[in-house]
Amino acid sequence: MIVSAGVVVRRTCRRGARRRHAHAILAATILLLAGGTPATSLAQGPGKRVLPILYLPADQPFAADRLRLQVQAVHDVQEWYATRLGGSTFFADPLIVQRSRHTFAQLADSNFQNWWPLPEKEFAAWGMPWNDSSRIKLLLLAQGAGAWAGADSENGGYEREGDAARVRRGDLGGLAVVGDSSIGGILAGVCPRSGEASHRKPEGGTAWWCNWNTYRGTIAHELGHTFGVPHPDAVRPGFRCDSTVITNMQCHWAWPADSLLPFEAQHFRSTPFFAREARADWTPAMPETGGAAAATRVIGSPAGPDTLLWLTGRGGGTGYLWGVRSDEHGEASMRWQPPPGTRWFIADIGWTGEPTEDATLTFRCDDASTTERLVRGAAPRTITVPLATRCTLSTTISPAAPIGMGNPRWSPRR
Ligand SMILES: [Zn+2]
Repeated sequence: MIVSAGVVVRRTCRRGARRRHAHAILAATILLLAGGTPATSLAQGPGKRVLPILYLPADQPFAADRLRLQVQAVHDVQEWYATRLGGSTFFADPLIVQRSRHTFAQLADSNFQNWWPLPEKEFAAWGMPWNDSSRIKLLLLAQGAGAWAGADSENGGYEREGDAARVRRGDLGGLAVVGDSSIGGILAGVCPRSGEASHRKPEGGTAWWCNWNTYRGTIAHELGHTFGVPHPDAVRPGFRCDSTVITNMQCHWAWPADSLLPFEAQHFRSTPFFAREARADWTPAMPETGGAAAATRVIGSPAGPDTLLWLTGRGGGTGYLWGVRSDEHGEASMRWQPPPGTRWFIADIGWTGEPTEDATLTFRCDDASTTERLVRGAAPRTITVPLATRCTLSTTISPAAPIGMGNPRWSPRR
């Protein structure tokens, strides 16, 4: 149910752990959605990348139509950067759904300000800290967080225009939290999905918290802070967008007509999170069906996220758009055929139910094998299995156990 509430909401763009600042206090009528053992550190796992997460309060329902829009938004923002940076964009893992241990009331508190500190602590406890020389930027698309957005980067942003792309800023962990009032409003038919984009600040129902374009522009903007790029007027006093110059880092409401200033673009390209290969970083991996794979089930699909594979151990569970799980009553064995050029098999492994004993997963690629042990009660963790050129990968789980693999995928890089 969508209800309107008159609430003063603070929108923060924070950068630099030591010099956080808040700005732009908006008095807004917003849309609220009503009702509705730490793993091996993920932060030290595969290469530097953004982790897009649909962050779901403990007491709100999962909705496939919301998820579909969020997946689209992240994809569109990744593509938008690519078009602005000559093909270069940020590396990103597949989006996951994370149900918090906190309820909506706890996250919202009395002034909506707990949408930052509670998830920050929660993800750190799960081995996913963003501010401990981390390799990950957490992008939390927060269900129910209304008109709240903010970002922070562990090693801050550059402080002078001439420092852009010359100083290592924004190349460590980061956190961006973006409330999803636009998503709820679009699905309720009260927020526009299209419209004119201009440097002028939107008015009425086309503000960022109620507009599909500016929602995606806000994600691009907040992520931009985590990569070390401040508002341009912080380094070029008096800068204003006009009809000829519209940068997302100042005027994200003009998305997708906005662009990036040349020194901003240089800085993005200079960070280790950006590369021309980022869009081809991984492809979904599905086991061959039939025969030995009969004891496994494929859950969900990258093309239609109506069903999720849920793994236990973190908060209220972690949902994956697609995955495979073993049959609890028989030993699971799978065969996989890596495409040419693939160097790594990557997946999150975890429990889909209550285990009776620890289990072992064995990945065999020609003569080499990799073993992963999964102890009872463990939270999902990311595994990377090296592949030889031309190999058939076989996976066995022993003994029979309720194990799932979320987002199994092939990657040319670790
Ligand atoms: Zn900002």
